[in-house]
Amino acid sequence: MADIADEAFEREELTRQLAIRNRAVPQMTYTGECHNCEIPIDSGYFCSTECRDDHAKFIRAEQQRKIG
Ligand SMILES: [Zn+2]
Repeated sequence: MADIADEAFEREELTRQLAIRNRAVPQMTYTGECHNCEIPIDSGYFCSTECRDDHAKFIRAEQQRKIG
């Protein structure tokens, strides 16, 4: 019983974390270019996960500047 409950909890936690990660890129529009380094891409918003992370860091820094 306990094992099944733990497993369900873990799966729920994983789904939640995935949702949070996907939310890290809010309201972006497809422009045909990577939003970070501006090289042409076929789909999505970034050419690589590195660029996505870089951009997320940039956005976070911008937000902190506005707050501070
Ligand atoms: Zn890029």
